[in-house]
Amino acid sequence: MAQTYLYLFLAIVSLSYVLGMILDRLNTLHWCNGLPVRLKSIITEEEYQRSISYYKQHGNLSNWEESLSFVIIFFVLIWGGFGWLDSALRHLSTHFLLLPLLFFGTLGLISGVIALPFEIYSTFVIEERFGFNKTTVRTYCMDKLKSLVLSIIIGGGILSLIITIYHYTGNWFWILAWGVVIVFSIFSVMFYSTLIVPLFNKQKPLEEGETRQAIELFAQKTGFKLDNIFVIDGSKRSTKANAYFTGFGKKKRIVLYDTLINNHNANELVAILAHEIGHYKHRHILKGMALSFLETGIVFFLLSRFIDPSTSLAQNICAALGAAQPTFHVGILAFGLLYSPISTLISIFTNVLSRHFEYQADGFAGTHCDPDDLQQALKRLSVDHLSNLNPHPFYVFIHYSHPPLISRLERLESLK
Ligand SMILES: [Zn+2]
Repeated sequence: MAQTYLYLFLAIVSLSYVLGMILDRLNTLHWCNGLPVRLKSIITEEEYQRSISYYKQHGNLSNWEESLSFVIIFFVLIWGGFGWLDSALRHLSTHFLLLPLLFFGTLGLISGVIALPFEIYSTFVIEERFGFNKTTVRTYCMDKLKSLVLSIIIGGGILSLIITIYHYTGNWFWILAWGVVIVFSIFSVMFYSTLIVPLFNKQKPLEEGETRQAIELFAQKTGFKLDNIFVIDGSKRSTKANAYFTGFGKKKRIVLYDTLINNHNANELVAILAHEIGHYKHRHILKGMALSFLETGIVFFLLSRFIDPSTSLAQNICAALGAAQPTFHVGILAFGLLYSPISTLISIFTNVLSRHFEYQADGFAGTHCDPDDLQQALKRLSVDHLSNLNPHPFYVFIHYSHPPLISRLERLESLK
């Protein structure tokens, strides 16, 4: 039976790899040699070719990374590598908390080391080549160090809590673990801006002036109470621009990248902000959180059924990974593999919903300010970022959290 599960694991990782490659190929074939007619008013032939070249270089790099990861996981599964790691670490400790922490810590470290050269090449070669990169080697190393310490403290802390709950409560652990994740998520949304962001970036309130006045006037007009408009030094790492909304209640704040302020006029900035306020007015943040909490609950419940060591299911899935005995940490890994196709389906559904939310936020912006301003801002963002303006519809359906530029412009056009 363990053998059957091993074949199932191998089939799942192979299928997901092949499907990923097919989708990528579809997208590449969708590029035409010349500039498609419907894009002619948005982008020049030269910019279009540049965006294709940019996209191709990133695509090739991620294909190499995915292929390498696939080969490694495939052979690790065949050789029972996860079970081997479990028994090797048992020489160091068999403590109920320390062993899983060592296990996941080692796997996290190995996957981080595998991803590192690809990340460095992406930032310092491709992004640099196209003039986006502003990250210095020092900033990059400090970022890595800070992220590592944060993931040890936060990731390790939450994992320890969940393992401890499992150790003392057994099968009912899922309700308590679910509660822990919900409380932590709410806490992190509320305090992300004040506790985490300052470790990486400087934020300061938007200066008095034309832009601030225009934004405040707009917020007042739409009955949106806005005390916190911050500017973040995104230019420290990249010339790419962004804006986001975070927190809720008194903690809510709008954050604009300095690169966004430098590249857009006051009207366009108000339109971008209107889009963000649209998300808030339609309660997208709350809806998104409620859905992810629901999924977390289901995952923990299913997990508790899969890793009960007294069942033959837990024994078989752990044996399939080469482990001599069923354990919490190897069980989580096996469950993760079995769950990954469901997780892919859920992410497709989430993307459909997210694209719907984007249209709603655009609709809010388009009815409360001039749709031309948002169209202008979106066009400039897409062209400046060398976004893929001609993606394959099926690729969009599976992967895109935002609708492609053309569709957004068309919807905004219909509001005029
Ligand atoms: Zn949005």
